[in-house]
Amino acid sequence: MPSPAVVHVAVFVPLRKPFSYLWPAGWKQSPTPGLLLRVPFGPRSAYGFLLRVGAGGEAEENGLKEVTEIVDPEPLFPPSMTAFFERIARYYHHPIGDVVGTALPPSIFARIAGAPAPELVYSAAATEAVPPGPKQRQIVDWLRRHGSTPRRQLRALFPGTAPVLKRLAALGMVTVEDCRREWTANGAEGGGEGIAPELTVDQRDALEALRPALAGDAFAPFLLHGVTGSGKTEVYLRAAEEARSLGRKILVLVPEIALTPQLVGRFRQRMGGAQKEMAVLHSGLSNRERRTVWKGVMADRIDLVIGTRSAIFAPFESLGLIIVDEEHESGYKQSEGFRYNARDLALWRAQLDGATVILGSATPSLATFRRAREGKIGLLSLRCRVLFRPLPEVHLVDLSRRSIQGCLSPELVTALGENLERKEQSLLLLNRRGFAPFILCHDCGTVIRCPRCEISLTYYRRRNLLRCHYCDGIAEPPDTCPHCRGASLNPCGTGTERLEEELVTLFPAARLARMDSDSMTGKDAYPQMVGKMARGDVDILVGTQMVAKGHDFARITLVGVVDADATLFLPDFRSAERAFSLLTQVSGRAGRGVLPGRVLIQTRNPAHYVFGSVIGHDYENFYDQEGVFRRDMGYPPFGHLVNIVISGGKDETVEEAASLLAAWLQSSAGAVEVLGPAPCLLGRLRGKRRLQIVLKAASRPPLHQLLELFEKDAPRPPAGVKMIVDVDPVDMF
Ligand code: ADP
Ligand code: ZN
Repeated sequence: MPSPAVVHVAVFVPLRKPFSYLWPAGWKQSPTPGLLLRVPFGPRSAYGFLLRVGAGGEAEENGLKEVTEIVDPEPLFPPSMTAFFERIARYYHHPIGDVVGTALPPSIFARIAGAPAPELVYSAAATEAVPPGPKQRQIVDWLRRHGSTPRRQLRALFPGTAPVLKRLAALGMVTVEDCRREWTANGAEGGGEGIAPELTVDQRDALEALRPALAGDAFAPFLLHGVTGSGKTEVYLRAAEEARSLGRKILVLVPEIALTPQLVGRFRQRMGGAQKEMAVLHSGLSNRERRTVWKGVMADRIDLVIGTRSAIFAPFESLGLIIVDEEHESGYKQSEGFRYNARDLALWRAQLDGATVILGSATPSLATFRRAREGKIGLLSLRCRVLFRPLPEVHLVDLSRRSIQGCLSPELVTALGENLERKEQSLLLLNRRGFAPFILCHDCGTVIRCPRCEISLTYYRRRNLLRCHYCDGIAEPPDTCPHCRGASLNPCGTGTERLEEELVTLFPAARLARMDSDSMTGKDAYPQMVGKMARGDVDILVGTQMVAKGHDFARITLVGVVDADATLFLPDFRSAERAFSLLTQVSGRAGRGVLPGRVLIQTRNPAHYVFGSVIGHDYENFYDQEGVFRRDMGYPPFGHLVNIVISGGKDETVEEAASLLAAWLQSSAGAVEVLGPAPCLLGRLRGKRRLQIVLKAASRPPLHQLLELFEKDAPRPPAGVKMIVDVDPVDMF
């Protein structure tokens, strides 16, 4: 009788390594990677995915328990992905079960986990009726005054009211809506009829360089560095067409959901009529849609997927081409739970599959550009805009030593006026939502803060409420100062809502629109805005960084940056890089059509080195200057970081645990520098105290060795203290 097989299972428990089990000898189905299993675990049972089938008949077999049940008879990922998952778990020092659990859409194993909770939003129904009870009255009152409110906010404001909400809904006094966004691929706009333009010289050179890579089966990474409007997308399209004609599978990543419809539209127009399908994969899809796409990829019906960062886990057996658009974007980094960076995973996956990777950007991350400079990845440059269109002229408006009315300088007001007269579109960037970023008491200097995060609350005038941008908590603005009881509370500073009001006063006839994460809710908001812009129904578009990304609005000829300093002086070593990228990207929205564009940037620090590179459209100049600082400080890409965040409800316990961990790390540090513990920039978040320990090293191996030891030997934090290990952190707040 043959000995039973040993299988290695990624169990959904917070432990790093897979566990071994025996495959019951009597089962007809043979063990295959990707199967969802139930297995005994300690006194209970747990779920997990089969990763590998090991050799049977070893001594190890003794004492191994048998798999309890096959939950789903079809594998949910191909065997080739096992190595990918294992590498990720090792690199990010994250439990393998959670890596696989995060990679697969929740609906895939809905059977065990239940579908994810819907995002319910409540609104007051259009009725004057008086609610029956006092609690019910309170809630309806709130909704009537403040507008639609998500369930979790209502629960925080009115604890224990779940049954009350149910009753109100049953009475028809409130309406409930599931607000999970569902962008679909259809309805995506786009100009031409899918006719391919004649390539520019640079585009042709880039494709010439890509062609042999696409035909071969060796790992071939490229940076496609092209100024804004140089036609990077056209290169993606041609490369994808070529890969597809060779029968290879293609994955296209975009940094956020809002950018998928536009790209999908362009791919649809050009890549129709193929034997296999293309599909969209992102977190805004319904469970059923995602499940359908997942199964379609597994069954080889779908050969092209466009999606956001989680699409890097699409279950292709083997990929031929991966495109990462706007590769510098922080949207590729998952900032909660298992903190991977999809751009880096794209490179690994391509390495394992022998695929071509194109990382595209006008402002590449320093890490990517360094690799290109060192010849580790190929560099493809698109130096000019298509059809010889000029790059926009960029001017600084120096606001130091002068005060202006409101937040727009006379120069910018004049330019906006001229643009309105010429019936051309303008774009204003202001990276702050709401009416005012804080409310200040002019008597005692108190700033109203979120009780749970200790961060100033943003004032929204139209809805008359205060909101915390970190925990999403809301409150009613107080009439008097909570500290001195004075009545001199005033909203300070300017957000997009206030800017809009200023514009209404200045240009009453102008048609305004606002694009930020507050106004872009609901499933059609984004495509509608893109449509309005394209039809010329908007004169001035106001927005946060959301407006700077990847859009191709052909009629914008003026871009105004209201407050460049807000981005430039964030307490983060990457602030100059972020500012350079944001300013270059938003400038790139100007003059993309027939008419040339100009850009006005308001700042109180015109001498900052970032501006020279922005004005000159000179990425390499920026890279060289920023590189000196990073190299001196040992920051990425010339050094490597790990951020360990320790948090919990009790200040003392958290501080003690952090000190202990830091001391342990110090004692085993070797070539690694251990910094902290120090309070995180958000020293308190959702009521939890937060401290961080930063590990810094010139190369990766000592960092990984230290983390490995740390996992094995370091003292465990006590109950109530949570620890997160973030390898290659992007956001250090
Ligand atoms: P990027 O992503 O580099 O900012 P896009 O790919 O959005 O630029 O291209 C900008 C515009 O130029 C698009 O409207 C696109 O259709 C057009 N375009 C791209 N390549 C060409 C070309 N070779 N000739 C004419 N127009 C082109
Ligand atoms: Zn808060």
